[in-house]
Amino acid sequence: MNGTELWNLVESHREELVAFTQRLVQTPSMPGQEGAVAALVQAEMKRLGYDEVWVDEVGNVIGQTAGGDGPSLMLNAHMDHVDAGDPARWPCPPFSGEVRDGELWGRGSVDMKGALAAMVYAGGLVRQCGVPLPASLYVSAVVQEEVGGLGARHLARALPVQRVIVGEASQNQLRRGHRGRVELIAHWEGRSVHASMPDLGVNPHFSVARFIQGVRELPMATDPDYGASTVAPTCIRSEPTSANVTPGAVHLVLDWRNIPGEGAEEITAKLQDLVDHCLEPGCRGWIEIASKELVSYTGVRAVYPDLFPSFTTAADHPWLLKAQEVLSSVLGRSVPIGTWRFATDGGHFAEAGMTVIGLGPGDDRLVHTVEERLPVEQLLESTVAYMALALNP
Ligand SMILES: [Zn+2]
Repeated sequence: MNGTELWNLVESHREELVAFTQRLVQTPSMPGQEGAVAALVQAEMKRLGYDEVWVDEVGNVIGQTAGGDGPSLMLNAHMDHVDAGDPARWPCPPFSGEVRDGELWGRGSVDMKGALAAMVYAGGLVRQCGVPLPASLYVSAVVQEEVGGLGARHLARALPVQRVIVGEASQNQLRRGHRGRVELIAHWEGRSVHASMPDLGVNPHFSVARFIQGVRELPMATDPDYGASTVAPTCIRSEPTSANVTPGAVHLVLDWRNIPGEGAEEITAKLQDLVDHCLEPGCRGWIEIASKELVSYTGVRAVYPDLFPSFTTAADHPWLLKAQEVLSSVLGRSVPIGTWRFATDGGHFAEAGMTVIGLGPGDDRLVHTVEERLPVEQLLESTVAYMALALNP
């Protein structure tokens, strides 16, 4: 099947694909509350004639279309999204799914219900191409990507496919990796006293201040593909919370984006050195890797350290180069290969030994903002792209 035929097939399903994406956006699905969206995805996969559709114990929806003996492929998207915040700040209501000037608006439209809809349709329409599918194709809609990847971590163990395409936003260009993420908490303990007599206590804030200044000057590891690792102090909390009491303890969250090969232990040791160096007399301080307890909408509970692995597929990997050639031909334009700045579920799959590449509709700079919107043409183009990649391994 040539590019024009693929385009025509997708074009003939334009209205229902757009309507399905709108329904997904109109159905809020914060992490742990993906049940309603999962039901929509499941129903659509069944309607599109997948061979098998099931929901696993953590609530991921998986649809399978059987194929030949080629390397099995999974198209992967997540069903959850970040909070929309105050709806009044949005130029268009966040759960409207309204199409304005060719763009579909709303929280999750780019991250990543557009890619999810495109993948669901690609997995269904590929059957109607009249050519045998070279390998088994799985489409997975996973839970809780935004809070630690409960769904992907579960799926990476349960479904050992060989190749994965992650649909996070890339304006339909190819991606071959990203840095990892480690969330750490720095703790300080001093002695709390009445704020009218600060000299009697040990106020951790002064050690924290020196530490934060030091974070900015910390020498960071670098990588030819990803540049430098970065670290950002984010949330800070002190206790007790009364304004007329000096704190006895302060807790600071650090968001560390690590280049490949830079492990959590190395990072912890580096930060611990800085904490030690910045302590004022009487204050103690230590670093810990944050962890999260996640509960799925199906009731499964899991505790994970807040670590998102990086992943890198070699720039000259044969599948990546083939994908570039196939897409350039079918999409009729050049398709550059780059890397993502943010972390994705791809790291969990790569850690399980799968080869991971990325491609998804939408502009990643609009993700998590009140300007989130997806060009409908990119939604269609990504559907064509996913089908082309499934047909040409
Ligand atoms: Zn995402």
